[in-house]
Amino acid sequence: MTESKEHKSALNVMAGIEQPSQINEEAIRKLRSGKRKPLSVADFVKGIREGNRTVLSKAITLVESSLKSHQEKAQEIIAECLKSEIKLENLKSRIEDRGSRIENQESILHPPSSILHPPSSIRIGITGVPGVGKSTFIEALGKHLTANGHKLAVLAIDPSSSRSKGSILGDKTRMEELATDPDAFIRPSPSAGSLGGVARKTRETIILCEAAGFDVILVETVGVGQSETAVHSMVDFFLLLMLAGAGDELQGIKRGIIEMADAIFINKADGDNIAKANLAKAEYSNALHLFPPPESGWIPVVETCSAQTREGITNVWETISDFCTFTSAKGFFTRRRMEQARQMLFDAIDESLKTSFYSCRDITHKLKKMETDVIAGKISPYSAAKELLEKYYSG
Ligand code: GDP
Repeated sequence: MTESKEHKSALNVMAGIEQPSQINEEAIRKLRSGKRKPLSVADFVKGIREGNRTVLSKAITLVESSLKSHQEKAQEIIAECLKSEIKLENLKSRIEDRGSRIENQESILHPPSSILHPPSSIRIGITGVPGVGKSTFIEALGKHLTANGHKLAVLAIDPSSSRSKGSILGDKTRMEELATDPDAFIRPSPSAGSLGGVARKTRETIILCEAAGFDVILVETVGVGQSETAVHSMVDFFLLLMLAGAGDELQGIKRGIIEMADAIFINKADGDNIAKANLAKAEYSNALHLFPPPESGWIPVVETCSAQTREGITNVWETISDFCTFTSAKGFFTRRRMEQARQMLFDAIDESLKTSFYSCRDITHKLKKMETDVIAGKISPYSAAKELLEKYYSG
């Protein structure tokens, strides 16, 4: 076939429009030029202070990491963030809230210590058995708060998550509305480690979130065991969610947890359940009178609410605000935080001693043998412990 015939053929395919390349050359260039530069401590602190969520999430990942280098970097970031705890904006609005005039800029930058209290955030612990409605409740309360200008961080302590990968508290889809709210930040429970380790990580995460401008921190846990005590030791206000018509035993709530509560809300007070909820409210109010009065002098509130219809949710926030006013006036709010800081010091020492001991190579070898000997009755547990510790200190 000659060239001219070829051009006239109906089967000939026209050249068409040239398509742009499907490959992002810039991305390829970045990939080829090696990994992205890791963020420095200063980058992290700047990003967090600016409220950059990606940077905040990365910093929390460092806090949760067990790598020594990550831990060291996390500690530096936290130390810097603690310096920025009192943010200028928060301070300004607090001063204005109190009706005082801002005399000059200098007094804002160097505030007298009296106006540093109460601190610029409120830390709230929420507990209750699975199914009581915690996530529905947090979503309802959270939406109420963000609608009223608050910035909310939701953290969790879920001691079961290291075993059952599908963490009950880690599932973001539980709080669909909040998860897409620009003023809310949800972080699932750190999954690895002992309760002490998880608690430390959560405490450090609270500091990072506060530095990022979140003024309400909710720490959620399941009301079935020790994690409540850990949460209680890191929050200002402890809220217990209960159901009507199920005895304490059924709800798996220990007496100690009820004693820790600053408020008990009977959830699911809607539809046919309202009468039962009111009855439960009366019962719990009576039962609480039998407990010794709490150190704060605050009488725990017992109320009903419905996370589903959102009835009574405004009352939850009013109760928390009343608590803050009451305990701040008496200095208890600050005293509790100081006591918590002291406790953190001792917890940090305990944890780092343990980690150092159990990760010592000489010890891990000897410990295995000692364990077998102790079980076989060849050596007493105390002598074995003494020998191991002596080895550790001499090493
Ligand atoms: P969690 O396991 O404690 O986080 O509980 P969820 O928030 O997942 O709620 C468990 C179930 O109770 C879900 O089916 C919710 O829709 C339902 N629920 C939560 N709050 C209420 C409420 O106030 N009233 C009613 N009727 N149901 C609710």
